[in-house]
Amino acid sequence: MSTISKRLVILGAAESGVGAALLGKQQGWDVFVSDGGKIKPKFRETLEAHAIPFEEAAHTEDLVLNADCLVKSPGISDKTAIMKKVRAAGIEVCSEIEFGYRYKGDSRIVAITGSNGKSTTTMLTYTLFKDAGYDVALVGNIGYSFARQIAERPCAWYVMEISSFQLDDIHQFRPDIGILLNITPDHLDRYDYKFENYVASKFRITLNQTKDDYFIINKDDQAIQQYFTTHSIHATTIYFTMSDNVTGQEGGFINDDNMRILYGGDYFDMSIHDLAIKGKHNQYNSMAAGISARIAGIRKEKLRETFTRFKGLEHRLEYVATVRGVDFINDSKATNVNSVWFALESMDKPTILILGGQDKGNDYSEIMDLVKKKVKAIICLGVNNQPIYDAFDSMVDTIIETAGAAEAVHAAYSCAEAGDVVLLAPACASFDRFNNFEDRGEQFKEAVRSL
Ligand code: ADP
Repeated sequence: MSTISKRLVILGAAESGVGAALLGKQQGWDVFVSDGGKIKPKFRETLEAHAIPFEEAAHTEDLVLNADCLVKSPGISDKTAIMKKVRAAGIEVCSEIEFGYRYKGDSRIVAITGSNGKSTTTMLTYTLFKDAGYDVALVGNIGYSFARQIAERPCAWYVMEISSFQLDDIHQFRPDIGILLNITPDHLDRYDYKFENYVASKFRITLNQTKDDYFIINKDDQAIQQYFTTHSIHATTIYFTMSDNVTGQEGGFINDDNMRILYGGDYFDMSIHDLAIKGKHNQYNSMAAGISARIAGIRKEKLRETFTRFKGLEHRLEYVATVRGVDFINDSKATNVNSVWFALESMDKPTILILGGQDKGNDYSEIMDLVKKKVKAIICLGVNNQPIYDAFDSMVDTIIETAGAAEAVHAAYSCAEAGDVVLLAPACASFDRFNNFEDRGEQFKEAVRSL
């Protein structure tokens, strides 16, 4: 007797979509992939190699709306025509992490979300687990998609970076350890310009958690605090904060330049000066990662080793070079105002700030005090720099417009004297002039090297 396979339709053939297609095929689904744009050659080749049918530059309704389950790429909004039809047809819609979750077996998950610091914290957590000898994979927005990892090399632990878009279509997804780093305005265009919708979406990380699961959160974050006072959370909650531990509760704390992680009646202490990654934001990231590692049973000596060695990721406050006494720092990944706040906060020299790009409706008031205190010139890198003039014209003497990375580096260098720092931290997306933030960072570094 033959059974008819259920139909799995995947919208969007990039890393998460192709991962879901591979896992779906392996699990006996009748898989079809539909991409409204052009599919990148490496993903097309993977689909062909696995004989998975697909279409590109179109969503043929007859081939999509007969799905039993539909996995949607996080990049596709519910406001697109095809998604409106999918919803109207009552088809079950999953994100790729939800689909992967169904096949994860008894493996365990550390899931990390927040507005800023996801990639850094995910990589740091993964490195802590890996260095301690755990069978662990790095998945989500960095690395392979969760679904592909399960299909190709299942592990005992998954350390996962997830965006709010991935969380929007979960149903059962339940991380053993969830980390919520911070919530500041970002991507509001996808949330009807309502900050509360974006906050609620981030909190879905703990939606299905029970008291046997851990939810590690930032006690100093206003939006997180506010949500807590009005909603009940079922998970066992552990805080990290820049304050001292006055009540003796479990969590992460900073006092007199000492980072303390208290868990299971045992504490781990380390000077913040011994952390290889610098800046206040990275102390938050280190506490969050460290708590998760302690919950997973990683020994304190191992924590210390990794913390002293882990240098962070490219394009995040990355030191590039010093040219005639002027330091150059690449923080191309600073694509919103809050990340620029942390970048400026950690500068201890007069700063020439390269700012601008595709503005997502920035409110610069958050960084005005730091700009007044530390910034001697602003170099604009965007196509439309009016918002920068509007915000800073009255407080910074020199504002210069440039049309590309090389021009910006030259303009910054000509304003600088020995002992200054040039910081690329645009507070904006890169797409008006660059392919992506990596391209912007690479072009910046190249220009610095050729000075
Ligand atoms: P994400 O994956 O959430 O974008 P990244 O680790 O790639 O996070 O960092 C993005 C930007 O935010 C970088 O400019 C980085 O220096 C800054 N950043 C990193 N961690 C934090 C944090 N905890 N709070 C605020 N900004 C941060």
